[in-house]
Amino acid sequence: AAPDNGGLLDGLDPDQRAAAGSGGGPLLIIAGPGTGKTRTLTHRLAHLVSERDVPPEQCLAITFTRRAAEEMAERLAALVPDHAPRLTIATFHSLGVRILREQHDRAGLSADFGIADHARQLAVLAEVTGDEAGARRALAELSRTRRTGTPDELAERYTKALRQQDLVDFDDLVALPVALLEADPALVTAYRERFRWIAVDEYQDVDEQQYRLLRLLAPPDGNLTAIGDPDQAIYRFRGADVGFFLRFRQDFASARTVQLTRNYRSNPHILGTALKAIEPGTLVPGRELRPMGEHGDALVGVHHAADERAEGAFVARTIDQLLGGASFHSLDSGRVVGDGSQGLDFSDFAVLYRTDRQARAVVEALTQAGLPFQKRSHDRLAERPGVEEILAELAYAGGTVLDRVRRAADVVLGRGAEEAEVHTAVDLLTPLALECGDDLARFRTELSLGVEVDTWDPRADRVSLLTLHAAKGLEFPVVFVVGCEDGLLPLRWPGTEPAEEELAEERRLLFVGITRAQRHLYLSHAASRAGRPAAVSRFFADLGDGVQRIGDVVPKARPRETQLRLL
Ligand code: ATP
Ligand code: MG
Repeated sequence: AAPDNGGLLDGLDPDQRAAAGSGGGPLLIIAGPGTGKTRTLTHRLAHLVSERDVPPEQCLAITFTRRAAEEMAERLAALVPDHAPRLTIATFHSLGVRILREQHDRAGLSADFGIADHARQLAVLAEVTGDEAGARRALAELSRTRRTGTPDELAERYTKALRQQDLVDFDDLVALPVALLEADPALVTAYRERFRWIAVDEYQDVDEQQYRLLRLLAPPDGNLTAIGDPDQAIYRFRGADVGFFLRFRQDFASARTVQLTRNYRSNPHILGTALKAIEPGTLVPGRELRPMGEHGDALVGVHHAADERAEGAFVARTIDQLLGGASFHSLDSGRVVGDGSQGLDFSDFAVLYRTDRQARAVVEALTQAGLPFQKRSHDRLAERPGVEEILAELAYAGGTVLDRVRRAADVVLGRGAEEAEVHTAVDLLTPLALECGDDLARFRTELSLGVEVDTWDPRADRVSLLTLHAAKGLEFPVVFVVGCEDGLLPLRWPGTEPAEEELAEERRLLFVGITRAQRHLYLSHAASRAGRPAAVSRFFADLGDGVQRIGDVVPKARPRETQLRLL
């Protein structure tokens, strides 16, 4: 019999251990934030290959972003160094690329087919329709119909034109492997034999095509582990559907369901606030989630700022004071909302917001205060301003990928493009360029799959500025969620009211934001933004009494200079 409490399961609690150490068959782990889902998944893989003699080549882990895949690969390299290099850790899209490269001739492609970026897609569509001006809207529409329904005539012509140019687009990366597999049972068998053990993290955000791929790769009684939290589903707008939790139970009828109830991430007030925020819209009614009490008991601070500049200044000042070891007291209750944690550095802070635009005021405030930061969204890298132009120039230069990127940027700048955007683009591309050395083709592939947050560096000693979408799966000792206003969180167009499902998704975004915090959480809103009056988020009405209003923070104890001298 296989050991069920071997060394690799030691760092897990009993529920996690039961999940990570369980044998074959379909397994569904539904659990809240910070309950160690990702940790359990990682340890499960390690346990399988080193304690159950599963060949690492048979294991496939699917994560949501390349950055998450890298992090998992690193953890596995530490846990099971001999086996880790032979595991496959992918995103749905990188897995799709891999399958397509292997099966390229079935798809009418060469082995080194390209992945069309947005500009190329528009050009192809304009060729097909002869309507350049309407291409952008047509593409958005096309993308929607292809994702949800059966492709129409235009979709077919567009796809044919892409293939003729040896191209696929981003949506093809999952849809095309699905089509190939659906057309050929022998191919299905081959991949099922290859990946006998599959685990998917962030399962709540799978969409129809991704789910179909999973069903093809895993037989109904297969060793498929799906891990997720319905209340953290934040990609409905891209076609994700929490209904796939129910489908899993139907399609993998022998699935066992495991729940994890201990939260190791957040202090009790933060967790309590999170639960109150999600309660009115929860998809997991009656769920149990207990704080393990490892992160102090500072109250959640709510700050009301006059405008977005004042809000940015509040963030910068609070970071500065926490770095100096200050304790803060709520003006109303005198209770602690900042407990003078020791040993914080810049990388322990994150500022989260609903829309990338909101970063500007924060960037200005941090810059003014001399606080270093890294800013990332969940936008696709290839579609970022500046990147597209640089990409277009890469073909004309020689040398390493980084040399090429730099020279291409010079060319773009020489044409008088906007400077800041080009420099930011180069900064974002640099880590990827370094990783790909001389391999331009690989660089192009990685780039077309990547999102900004893939280049986020967890080790950089900088404050992280992230959209709520980009912050998924991450954690920080100190978190600010800024712009908690009606119109931003929930996001809505002025004068319109969001549909019920949209509102529910906005609530889940707030839940994701709150649950990134370990020791300190600050929620802020401004009375006026971009010169217009703004109202506090309607979600605040649900937060309850673990929250304390804080005006200007009141530093107590050591000022920063004293602390520096002590060091
Ligand atoms: P999310 O829903 O946000 O993705 P998660 O459920 O994946 O969260 P993890 O990121 O795996 O949670 O774990 C949250 C934190 O709790 C991590 O710092 C992790 O190391 C820690 N943790 C998890 N399980 C344990 C445990 N048994 N003992 C101590 N710490 C743990
Ligand atoms: Mg996780």
